[in-house]
Amino acid sequence: MIPLCVPNISGNEGKYLAECVTSTFVSTIGPFVTRFEKMVAEAAGSRGAVATSAGTTALHAALVAVGVKRDDIVICPALTFIASANAISHAGATPWLFDVDWSSWTIDPIVVAHELANGTERRGGELIHIETGRRISAILPVFTLGIPADMDAIIGIARDYGLKVVVDGAAALGAIYKGNMSGALGADLTMYSFNGNKTVTAGGGGAVAGDDEALLTRFRHLTTTGRVGADYDHDVAAFNYRMTNLQAAVGCAQMERLDDFVAAKRRIAARYEDAFWNIEGINNFPEPDWAGSAAWFSGFAFHDDDAGERSYALRAHLREEGIDARPFWKPMHNQKPYFDAPRSPMPVTDRLWPGVVTLPCSTHLAEAEQDKVIETVLNWFHGKH
Ligand SMILES: *Cc1c(COP(=O)(O)O)cnc(C)c1O
Repeated sequence: MIPLCVPNISGNEGKYLAECVTSTFVSTIGPFVTRFEKMVAEAAGSRGAVATSAGTTALHAALVAVGVKRDDIVICPALTFIASANAISHAGATPWLFDVDWSSWTIDPIVVAHELANGTERRGGELIHIETGRRISAILPVFTLGIPADMDAIIGIARDYGLKVVVDGAAALGAIYKGNMSGALGADLTMYSFNGNKTVTAGGGGAVAGDDEALLTRFRHLTTTGRVGADYDHDVAAFNYRMTNLQAAVGCAQMERLDDFVAAKRRIAARYEDAFWNIEGINNFPEPDWAGSAAWFSGFAFHDDDAGERSYALRAHLREEGIDARPFWKPMHNQKPYFDAPRSPMPVTDRLWPGVVTLPCSTHLAEAEQDKVIETVLNWFHGKH
């Protein structure tokens, strides 16, 4: 089977892990954690970064750090991995789900601005969501597939309404928005994931990047059990969410190759696009004018009325041929924990997600393997199967 997306572990990972073992620094304190945080900050274009046990835990602590409270509302796109919405739930808040924009598959700021103008009111200095009577405290844009959301528009809305912005940039390290790096777009904190299926992995892990030193310090404190001094004093009911030196050792070896990995992802995406651009009834994954995508995943989406059936049939055929092809995130309003979450109309998300086919895109995918994928897909469309 040609796998969908597997880690490329062929650099200094083993060497750095051996250093951890020899030095006995295997836990949350160690030189690789510090080095990893510097590398992530640099790749994000941010002043600093703090590493965590996972992307999900980073998002949870980030929401708490910026001031999201129990019973708040946090705005996020319906089309995301469930971890984004779960992090909001873990903070005691409720996601307000929004549709995405066709050109980027990221949260549509026009819809957000419209719903905020019509569905909220100011009460005692707070922005209240009229339908639920709850306070709205933050926006959580997601950089779908490694594509930055339209951050100028989103930051503008956040300023107008006094909202914090925490970005889920899980797979967006290496992405560009209007010439700027993904962690330098005006958000309070930007999260990255180093899970095994991301472009760079630490085996598991996450990080936030940002420019506000005080906020990063608060985040670090919250993820390190809120410890004060060395005598078991803690000043807040905090989290144990730090990354270990073992994870960071793998992460550092991977980060050394970030530019090559992103270039490989973009090359793979471009080859699929060249091969499939003139097939009727499908759209390649988007790249809006404002963005250089980190191209985490490759593939396309059927867009006609039978998109769901056709994408299912093609994915099944590819797997029979030894090619792993999968669907993409099932949106949050179709997930049991979020059936009742408040939401905007979802014409784009509902149209989009059933038709998505993701294709093999590991950074070390061989050209001959990609040729086989392309040929098998083209033959299916031409009826030779
Ligand atoms: C992978 C991913 C996460 C979760 O990250 P973990 O490190 O697995 O916790 C969150 N959001 C998005 C969009 C992701 O792709």
